[in-house]
Amino acid sequence: MKAGSGAAPRPAPAEVRLFNTLGRRLEPIEPIEPGSLSLYTCGPTVYNHAHIGNLRTFLFEDLLKRSLRLLGYRVLHVMNLTDVDDKTIRGARERGVSLDEFTAPYIESFFADLDRLGVDPADVYPRATRHIPEMIEMIGRLIERGVAYVADGSVWFRIAADEDYGKLSGIRLEEVRQGARVAQDEYEKEDVRDFVLWKGAKEGEPAWDSPWGPGRPGWHIECSAMSARYLGETFDIHCGGVDNLFPHHENEIAQSESASGRPFVRIWLHAEHLIVDGQKMSKSLGNQFTLGELLERGLSPRAIRFALIAVHYRQKLNFTFDGVRAGAAALRRVDEMRFRLAHAAAPAAPSETLTPRLETFRRDFAAALADDLNISAALAALFELVRDLNVEIEAGRIGGEDREVIEAALREADSVLGVLFVDEAGREAGGGTDDAEIEAILARRVEARRRRDFAESDRLRDELAARGIVLEDTPRGTRWKRRSD
Ligand code: AMP
Ligand code: ZN
Repeated sequence: MKAGSGAAPRPAPAEVRLFNTLGRRLEPIEPIEPGSLSLYTCGPTVYNHAHIGNLRTFLFEDLLKRSLRLLGYRVLHVMNLTDVDDKTIRGARERGVSLDEFTAPYIESFFADLDRLGVDPADVYPRATRHIPEMIEMIGRLIERGVAYVADGSVWFRIAADEDYGKLSGIRLEEVRQGARVAQDEYEKEDVRDFVLWKGAKEGEPAWDSPWGPGRPGWHIECSAMSARYLGETFDIHCGGVDNLFPHHENEIAQSESASGRPFVRIWLHAEHLIVDGQKMSKSLGNQFTLGELLERGLSPRAIRFALIAVHYRQKLNFTFDGVRAGAAALRRVDEMRFRLAHAAAPAAPSETLTPRLETFRRDFAAALADDLNISAALAALFELVRDLNVEIEAGRIGGEDREVIEAALREADSVLGVLFVDEAGREAGGGTDDAEIEAILARRVEARRRRDFAESDRLRDELAARGIVLEDTPRGTRWKRRSD
């Protein structure tokens, strides 16, 4: 950029290393276009409300994107919506509605969940049903190149024609589907390992016209075609949960690289699964929660967001209610420090150590994230800063105008975390505890006392006390004031 063009220059991107599933090693990011990154993340299959496992993966991707931005990159993010597949078709048929009518409420609920959890929206959310021509075009190219064939109205990818098959997952061709029972409708395949690109229409199913007759796309081709449409044939980063690794991502590579003759993706990232109370989530165990169910049980969006991002993405996340509450308590320590700071008088002399201390924090926080999103180290840096600042406030060494620089450093960290400058409901909030918030907590306490839930009433009193609010129960109701010390 020329000097004097007006816009503030972006900081030079930091060196970022990520664990590439392709090759299984930490690698520096080398963007195709300097300073910019193109990111594709596999989105939800909209046949149901998302569960918190799905949300863990989407929040990992949010953390990734926000971290890359903090570290100086522009990010172009595409997330697809799988709105046609076996499950959506079955659901629509069972309810006797069209595919679009069936998926609409789940799409809406997905976006509402992202919004509640403060997820930064993708630039584009392409829907599979709106990109059928691109998929047909890509399948046509695969047939022309001899790696796909038509059999009985369906189109198959010929795995044996792809020498590279297995390079992401490490699976050997002879292991693929070996011993697996071959379903009736797959008899026409040349080889049981071949996977479907286009499924010939069955009676009563939604179908689109194609050169091979009416039908619908297979799941894998959706992502290959939509990523090429919005990010080009080669792009920087592709993410999903570990269950996407095989066969979905392996098949995406096979399709995309066979169609374009070029490398598909530079870096593949996979998030480990979320488990609940040490067990796999499943309907039969009754431990498969949606965001709505957690909110009904009294957890706040900010506490849930924090719990879902606070464990490194390559580790399993064991979700427990106590764990979420412990995270919320840790966040309140930051609130309390900010509240004290907002009410601390200016020190007699300006602090000489504050600026370097904040610099150290900013550097450590960014360096942790640049190291394969080391969230534990980033949070440790934050809580250490809060501890140090509490000591300084207590000693009367910071206060007054110092608040501005401290809040700026916290805001920068929160551009990644998204949990500090929001209230319990996940809405944008300024610093400290304001009057409306105190009144809201008081109202909850009155309600708790009416229920004779004195444990909850005491807990709310303690919460207010921690924020420097003193309560006085009088015959005419509860009064509150800010502690003056
Ligand atoms: P789906 O809607 O099934 O296509 O899944 C959406 C995303 O959630 C995918 O990236 C999956 O890999 C991911 N996912 C599914 N189950 C879990 C889980 N238990 N924990 C974390 N991510 C999951
Ligand atoms: Zn995908």
